[in-house]
Amino acid sequence: MTAPICPECSSSHTCPIAYGYPGDEEEYLKLVAEKKICPGGCVTDDNSPVWYCNDCSHTWGRLRNSDNIDSFDYDQGFNIEETFDQ
Ligand SMILES: [Zn+2]
Repeated sequence: MTAPICPECSSSHTCPIAYGYPGDEEEYLKLVAEKKICPGGCVTDDNSPVWYCNDCSHTWGRLRNSDNIDSFDYDQGFNIEETFDQ
């Protein structure tokens, strides 16, 4: 998947924020260490951001947005196993 450019500093060193408990904790921690994902915790709310910038720590996007909740498939957008295989 392609992460978006940071709206704050124009960095491309961005990653999706992963919510919930990882199925494979070892792989999850590896991805976190490589800054390919950002741990977002287990609790989400209406203001939970989707993206994280590794350069300036800016977070943006909305995990739950009434305008696009049906079109944004978070599981499809980020698959931890597919990311690891690559
Ligand atoms: Zn940034």
